[in-house]
Formats: sequence, C-alpha cells, structure tokens
Amino acid sequence: MDKNIIQKLAAIVGEKGVISAKDLLENYSHDEFPLPEIWKLPDAAVKPRNAEEVSEILKLANKEKIPVTPRGGGTGLCGGCVPQNGGIVLLFDNMNKVLEVDPDNFMVTAQAGVMLRDLYAQIEKEGFFFPPHPGDETAMVGGVIATNAGGARAVKYGTIRNFVRGIEVVLPGGDIINLGGKFIKNSTGFNLLQLFIGSEGTLGVITKAVISFLAAPKETATLVVPYDTIQDAIGTVPAIMKGKIVPLAIEFIEEDAIAITEKHLSKKWPVRDAKACLVIILDAASREEVDRLTQAIADIALKNKAKDVFIADTKTREKEILDFRSSMYEALKPNLIETLDIAVPVSEIAAHVEAVHRIEKEQGLWIPTYGHAGDGNVHAHIMKLGLDQKIKKDWQKIYPVVRKLIHEDAKKRGGMISGEHGIGLIKREYMLDFLGPKQIEIMRSIKSILDPNNILNPGKIV
Ligand SMILES: Cc1cc2nc3c(=O)[nH]c(=O)nc-3n(C[C@H](O)[C@H](O)[C@H](O)COP(=O)(O)OP(=O)(O)OC[C@H]3O[C@@H](n4cnc5c(N)ncnc54)[C@H](O)[C@@H]3O)c2cc1C
Repeated sequence: MDKNIIQKLAAIVGEKGVISAKDLLENYSHDEFPLPEIWKLPDAAVKPRNAEEVSEILKLANKEKIPVTPRGGGTGLCGGCVPQNGGIVLLFDNMNKVLEVDPDNFMVTAQAGVMLRDLYAQIEKEGFFFPPHPGDETAMVGGVIATNAGGARAVKYGTIRNFVRGIEVVLPGGDIINLGGKFIKNSTGFNLLQLFIGSEGTLGVITKAVISFLAAPKETATLVVPYDTIQDAIGTVPAIMKGKIVPLAIEFIEEDAIAITEKHLSKKWPVRDAKACLVIILDAASREEVDRLTQAIADIALKNKAKDVFIADTKTREKEILDFRSSMYEALKPNLIETLDIAVPVSEIAAHVEAVHRIEKEQGLWIPTYGHAGDGNVHAHIMKLGLDQKIKKDWQKIYPVVRKLIHEDAKKRGGMISGEHGIGLIKREYMLDFLGPKQIEIMRSIKSILDPNNILNPGKIV
C-alpha cells in the first residue's frame, strides 16, 4: 500500500491506530478456518475510535478503491474476515465500551468491539440474562451481529437476530445511519435492520448496537441422556417439545467426539457406552419448576429408549459438563479441516448424521459429529485423520468430495448450508445451488446499490 495512504489513515485514527508492519499483520490474515490456503495478509490494519473515523476511512477507501474488511474477534469458522484482496482490515479494539445497561427497557447499548464475555459480565452484574451464546466468548458484538450467531441456547430464544433492536452502521460510501432503536415493535417501512444482521460485513460496518436482554432465570438444571443409537437420541426431541417443554438447549454428541475430548482433557464423561448422548439444559423461575421439568424430561427420555438419565445436581457438576462440551472443538482442532454448519429440519437430523457416517466409511476420512439437536443444526467435523486415527495421506483430494456429498445430502433433506456460522469465503460455491439464480441476483443488486465500488469485504457471500 502506498505510503501516502498509510499517512492519510494515520491522520484519521492517529499514528498508534495504524499497523503496517508485515509481522504484526499476520494475526489479521485469518480467522478460525484452519486451512492456510485461504489466508491473506492485509496491507494495513486500522483501529478507529468512533463511527466518524470509520466513515472517514471508508470515504478514503472508496476514493482510492481499496478493499476494507471488518474484523471482530476473528473467531469465525468460514473465512469471513479474511482480507481476500488485501487492503485495510478494520479493528474494533478502540471501540470496546458497554455504553449503557438500561434496566427499565431491558436493553444494553454497546460498541462493536465489546467482547461477548464482557457483555455477559456487564449484563449479569445487573442481574439480567442475555441468551444467545455462540461458543467462543472472545467474539465481538459487531461480529456476532454480522454473522447472526446462534449457539446452543437458540432452541428456546432464537439467534442474535431476535435480540438486536438497533444498530449504528457506516455505509461503504461513508454515510452513518441508525436502524431501529430502543423499541420492540417497528412496522416502519422495509426492515433494513434485519438486512444488515447476518450480512457478514459486506453491506456496512456496524459500530454500535442496542441489544435486548431478559430477567435472569432463577434456577437451571443439566441432564445427560445416553442412547444406543443417534435415531433414538434425536427421536426424543419432538417428544420433549410435544410434552410442552422448551429447554434452553438440547445438544447431541456422538461417541467419537466424547472419546477424543476425554483424551484431550484427561477427564471422564459422566455416562459410559453410549453411541450418542443428548445434553439438555433447563431454566425456570423456581427450583420446584426446574425439578418438575427435569422429572418430566427423564420420563419422556426413558420412554424413548434412553439407557439412563444423569442429572447434574450441583453447580460444579453442571459446569463440568458444559466445560466438557465447550472443549470438544479444542480437542478436534489440531487435525480439523472444516466444521460444517448444516441446518436441516429437526426430523431429518438422525438421517443426515447417518448419511455423514456412510460418507465417512465410503471415503475413509473421520467425521466426528455433534450439534444443536433442538434446532436442527449439525456440525460435522471433517478431519485430516482416517478412521484409524492416522493422518490420511490424500486428505486434500478426499476433502472436497466429502463436503460435496454431505451438502448434497443436506439439500435432499430440505436443509441449508449455514445455520449460524455464515458463508464467508469458503461456502460461496454452494450458494447458487441452494438459493437459485434469482435470489443471488437480488443479493448482488442490493450489494451493488450499497457498495457500487465493491470495496467492503469483497468476494464474500456472493
Ligand atoms: C470454539 C468456537 C465455537 C463456536 N461456536 C459457535 C456457536 O455455537 N454458534 C455460532 O453462531 N458461532 C459459533 N462460532 C463461530 C464464531 O464465534 C461466530 O461466527 C461469531 O459470531 C464470530 O464473531 P467474531 O467477532 O469473531 O467475528 P469475525 O470472525 O471477526 O468476523 C465474522 C464476520 O463478521 C464481519 N464483521 C466483524 N465485525 C464487524 C462489524 N463491526 N461490522 C460489520 N461486519 C463485521 C466480518 O467481516 C466477517 O465477515 C464458534 C467459533 C469457535 C472458534
């Protein structure tokens, strides 16, 4: 990048706010997608302090036709914040303040660079509860809104989309607009707020957000329910819902994912000899209500071929189980190629997971699988290892075949490419097939109206 541009950026954000040394830029060349083939160094990383500075950066970038890629915590799993064409990466480290916790309206106002762990801490300190919980708490407010993040608790409360009430956005041309606000209902024209949620930094830069929270549940309980087959485990989910119980989370985990996490943590999972387990989390306003729901679920599970029901009856036991579930990704990470994020109808989960294992056997690549059973979101993990747990020599050749076959199965079942991670760089190839040409044309038209010079996160989604 021209020295002149670096100087202009420094004039906007201050000398300390511009990083252009190559060795320091490496951190911003990738997210959590593991394959270095897609990584790309930016020419500069820039740390604006407010929306006005973001606006000045975008005006400069537009004039000079420089690509700009917003980056949150860099925890994305599909290359969304990878600066594919180089240029500027926008960092939000200097926009990391929770501006207000408003207990009367049950809303928090936060800058884009607030990490989720800090957002939870502020909200919980005031005695409230923010349900969306994507697994990595170093993700930032701007990033989780830009990906419409989900997580385990989406069963009861939905994804982040359901909680964002307002955002401040800087458009690619530099205009600053405010969408929505501190209100719940809004039928005022097209819903542009929802258009920007999940737009993965391609339509505008989110600088601030108003987000709803709830009263904290007084009590919770966590159950681990082992089964002999994935079909029996998944078959229990509609039975629970028909019993008029909506748990906070219903996760499924298969035996392979449990075994590798046990090895990674040197800790034992609380139940043995299960092909698949459900992990069910309940929340309620009183101990009596949680106990009633726990008993009702245990009865339903046992009627649906559960081998046993393990109830974590202390906070310590509950934390151990949830920490174990959160460690699965770390256990798989060293040999991971890709975490798929397929969404299927809940009734199709078991058949889809069976198809994954058929493909695993046919192609010889190991694919441990777990996911969100309550909302049909399946995370199949394509590994570099063969079924014998040794590096499969030709994994580079088999990987594209495996992911194609798994996506074909998802499509056949009425599923979708991404339930919560987004499209980023690596899933674009499936967009046309799943959405068809008209939807892609509409998305491209929207992009070109808002970003005619295609400077903002170019090459992502469509
Ligand atoms: C261990 C682990 C567990 C995970 N579990 C879940 C899960 O359960 N559910 C889930 O949904 N996800 C999960 N994820 C994925 C990831 O955490 C989410 O996609 C998260 O929302 C990304 O946020 P981020 O701040 O890290 O964004 P980044 O990875 O930095 O960026 C993601 C996208 O958002 C855009 N973006 C970032 N900031 C802005 C901004 N201010 N304005 C406009 N666009 C912006 C980027 O350009 C990019 O396209 C997990 C990831 C890991 C590593």
